[in-house]
Amino acid sequence: MSTSKTFFITGVSSGFGHALAEAAVAAGHRVIGTVRTEDARRAFEQQFAGRPGQAFARLLDVTDFAAAERIAADVESEIGAVDVLVNNAGYGHEGVFEESGMDALQRQFDVNVFGAVAVTKSFVPFMRRRRRGHIINITSMGGFITMPGIAYYCGSKFALEGISETLGKELKAFNVYVTAVAPGSFRTDWAGRSMVRSPRSIADYDALFDPIRNTRAERSGKQPGDPRKAAQAMLTLAESAEPPAHLLLGSDALELVRKKLETVRAELDKWEKLTRSTDVADV
Ligand code: NAP
Repeated sequence: MSTSKTFFITGVSSGFGHALAEAAVAAGHRVIGTVRTEDARRAFEQQFAGRPGQAFARLLDVTDFAAAERIAADVESEIGAVDVLVNNAGYGHEGVFEESGMDALQRQFDVNVFGAVAVTKSFVPFMRRRRRGHIINITSMGGFITMPGIAYYCGSKFALEGISETLGKELKAFNVYVTAVAPGSFRTDWAGRSMVRSPRSIADYDALFDPIRNTRAERSGKQPGDPRKAAQAMLTLAESAEPPAHLLLGSDALELVRKKLETVRAELDKWEKLTRSTDVADV
């Protein structure tokens, strides 16, 4: 077994967070996992009751920024130095842009972006001072590619990708790595109980959007990605001496992102002349 590390993972009640917590504990690591209800806290601690000192649960809604800071400080002093922070908590908003209110956008960014940033801010000072640490932000292939009906979700994941990559450049000198992990479609509760769907109201979008919404709902539970394999991949990532800034998970993500890169390159080439036309003449 590799050296034991301490993981702090947000959102361990289901999906990736739960799978990663299970895999990390099984591999001999320590896990502090966050949940949002007392029942979930009890369930998590009971699950690992046979592994004393290896699994701890904390109540946290990541949109409570003050609580995130308090919990990080408590964990660092009471449980120990966190080696790997995994910002996993998040959800998908689905809805046509024109049909989706500003409140839905606000909430999507509150959880997926501001929540992740708040938790990260709470741990960065400890990691920077220790000159050691790894921050893993769970983004999405929707942080690279887009599709109709998830503008707010893609926006939030693009934002987290950008923040992760930038932060990685700021922290590299302190031996603190930041990886944005972008999964494709995985069998979690993401498209099921966790998804927030704006109601339909404009018939003009029926032809485009109804098949997308129906297919996503029908495929929930049948996605190609296995969260337990994602968890193993994240453990491998956490063992890396020089972790990457970005890691895709799933062959669907790889295919779609490669296709997007080709499209972007072709568009850059097609418009190159106009792009170059704006430089000051003497440059
Ligand atoms: P999931 O099974 O629905 O798990 C989501 C977790 O996030 C749950 O533990 C949930 O807690 C927690 N959470 C949601 N809002 C929260 C908040 N405000 N504060 C604290 N915890 C919160 O779905 P999942 O697929 O594992 O999602 C995990 C991450 O993967 C998300 O960031 C998601 O966007 C990303 N992702 C998923 C897929 C996929 O196909 N599954 C693909 C790409 C990216 P509760 O149980 O209390 O709701």
